[in-house]
Amino acid sequence: MLEMKWIRENADKVQQAANDKRMEFDVYELVETDSLTRRLQQETEALRQARNTLSQAVGLAIHQGIEAEADAAKAKVALVNEQLAVLEQEFAAAEARRSRLLQRVPNIVSEDTPAGASDADNVEIRKVGALPEWGFLPKSHIELGELHDMIDFRRGVKTAGTRSYYLKGMAALLHRAVQQLALDLLLDKGFTPLEVPLMVREDTLVHAGFLPLGEDQVYRIAGEDRWLVGTSEAPLANYYAGEVIDAARPVKLAAASSCFRSEVGSAGRDTQGLYRVHQFAKVEQVVICKADYAVSDLLLHEITSNAEQLLQLLELPYRVMAVCTGDMSQKTYKQYDIETWMPSRGSYGETHSSSNLGDFQARRSNIRYRGADGKLRYCHTLNNTAVASPRILIPLLENHQQADGSIRIPAALQPYMRGAERIVPPG
Ligand code: AMP
Repeated sequence: MLEMKWIRENADKVQQAANDKRMEFDVYELVETDSLTRRLQQETEALRQARNTLSQAVGLAIHQGIEAEADAAKAKVALVNEQLAVLEQEFAAAEARRSRLLQRVPNIVSEDTPAGASDADNVEIRKVGALPEWGFLPKSHIELGELHDMIDFRRGVKTAGTRSYYLKGMAALLHRAVQQLALDLLLDKGFTPLEVPLMVREDTLVHAGFLPLGEDQVYRIAGEDRWLVGTSEAPLANYYAGEVIDAARPVKLAAASSCFRSEVGSAGRDTQGLYRVHQFAKVEQVVICKADYAVSDLLLHEITSNAEQLLQLLELPYRVMAVCTGDMSQKTYKQYDIETWMPSRGSYGETHSSSNLGDFQARRSNIRYRGADGKLRYCHTLNNTAVASPRILIPLLENHQQADGSIRIPAALQPYMRGAERIVPPG
C-alpha cells in the first residue's frame, strides 16, 4: 500500500500500474474520496472547536449568573451537536471508503518488467538442463502413481472431494524428502526456520496483501476471525508486523507448511493429477531488508538462485521467466517464475514464484527499521518458493522414469529416502 500523499502526487503512475496489471481500480476515485475525507475532517474539527468555545461561554455565563446568555449559548451548543453528529457520520463513512480503496491500490512495477497481458507474454531469461529423451512411451505421474500404488486420487476424492489425493509409500516419502532437502539448503544459507500458525487472523492476510483482493483464493473458518493460509508467506511476513527491526543485514525466514487454496478462480483448469490441488505443502523463503532497490533486487536474484539450486539437486530441467505486468499480482514490484519441465503436459509448468514486493507489504504490516539518518523507514520484503509439493512430484517422477517402469531417485534426495536409489514397481 502506497502512502496517500505519494498517491495524490503520482496518481497517473498508480493508475498506469493498475492498468498494466489488468486490475479494476480507479485511483481518481481514491483521490476524490481522500480530499472529501480531509475536508470533512477539517470541518468536523472546526465544529468541535466551535462547540468547545460555546461550552466555555455557557460555563462563563452561568458563573456570572447571566441566565439568558447561558441559555442562548446552550441552544447553540445543542445545534452544533446536531450538525456534528451528521458530519461525524459523513466523515466516518468517507474514511472507511478511503481505507477500503487504499487496500486495493496496486504496487508500482519495476521499469525492467516486461509489458504484457498474461503469462503468455512472460519472457524467458534462461533455460537450464536438457529435456529427457526416451526410447519408450513415457508415463504421466498419474499412471506412475497408479503403477507404483503411491498416488491415489480415487480415495482422495472419496475422502476430501475434488482436487484431493492420497500420497502413499514412496510418494509420501518423496513429498517429505523434497521439503527437508529444501529446508536444509536454506539453513545452510543462513535462513531461520519457523513453524508458523496455519490459521491466521484476517489482519494477517490483509497485511500480507492476500485480502481483500484474493478473497476467493483462501478458506475462511466459519464463525471465526480466522482463515487457513494459502501460503506461509502470510504468517512469515506478519512475524515482525508493527515492529521496528534491525535491517543492517537482511532477515531471512523459512517455513515448511501446509497450504490451502480454494482455487475458485481456476475452475475447470488443471483438474487432472497433482498440478492444481486444494491442499499442498510448501517450503517458503521470506526476506526482509532495508528499503533500497539495489539491495532488494540482489536478494531477489539470491532467492531465485536458491530455488534453482534445489532444482539442480533434483536434476530437473527448468527455465526462469521474467513475469510480465499482466501476470503480476497487486503487491508485486518485480517477479520471476521458475517453470520445470513436465513431460505429461508437454511443457514447462510453474513450480516457483519469486517476488520483490518493495515496501508494499511492510507498509501494510508496519514493519520498519531505523535508517543511517535516524529516520524510521518501511522495509522491503521478498518471497519465493523453495519447493512446493506435490506439484514438484510431477517433474520428479516423470523426468526420472525408466523403461522398466522404475523411477530414479536423484543422489541428493537419497539420504532423505532411507538410501533408496530407485522406486520400483511392487510385486
Ligand atoms: P504462489 O504461492 O501462488 O506463488 O505459488 C508458489 C508455488 O506453489 C507454485 O509455483 C506451485 O508450485 C505451488 N502451488 C500454488 N498453487 C498450487 C495449487 N493449487 N496446487 C499445487 N501447487 C500449487
